[in-house]
Amino acid sequence: MDSHKNAMDTLQPRTELDLTLVTTAYLPNQLPTLSLPQIALAGRSNVGKSTLVNCLAGRKGLAKISATPGKTRSLNFYQSLAGGYCLVDLPGYGYARCSKAEREKWGQLIEAYLKTTDQLRAVTALLDCRLPPQLLDRELVDWLRARRIPVLVVLTKADKCAQRDREARKKEWRELAHPAFPPILFSGKT
Ligand code: GDP
Repeated sequence: MDSHKNAMDTLQPRTELDLTLVTTAYLPNQLPTLSLPQIALAGRSNVGKSTLVNCLAGRKGLAKISATPGKTRSLNFYQSLAGGYCLVDLPGYGYARCSKAEREKWGQLIEAYLKTTDQLRAVTALLDCRLPPQLLDRELVDWLRARRIPVLVVLTKADKCAQRDREARKKEWRELAHPAFPPILFSGKT
């Protein structure tokens, strides 16, 4: 048990980011003009985006973790002054239970952000490590690639996934996304 714990401890990030929530946008006309370079975090509702933000910041309550998918409707801008950039948490997509009108409004907000932000440097696509590539995720990656926006692939919930599946996901996404860097496995638990 002890050796297991030690092995897990070595996986903790060595430095935490000084992330502060600077602003939130619910509508395209609320999108801020910020001078810092931005990296957006995109993924399905419930994929683990909030968990990742909190782990990076080393603070549990910064981004709201929800057991109910489809809750976050806003873009949240987190600034790291030391890092000199912003992480932008995009609203999770693909939540089946919300209305078509709501989904469209949501899509328009994400698209407005991705199309109009001069300071966008890359989009981190968060993908559930347990699932083979899903249509909506592939559409996102294709859309980004068509616009020459660099894609970083992060495979979430790695603790819930067997080694064989982890390797399969890495290979599939390397081929589909041609990511700027090799896919990264991530677990908010370990
Ligand atoms: P978001 O909707 O993408 O922001 O997802 P959340 O971060 O709110 O996480 C959704 C659910 O998945 C919550 O119940 C989390 O506790 C759980 N979760 C997130 N990341 C992990 C992970 O790495 N491992 C495990 N086992 N559960 C996770």
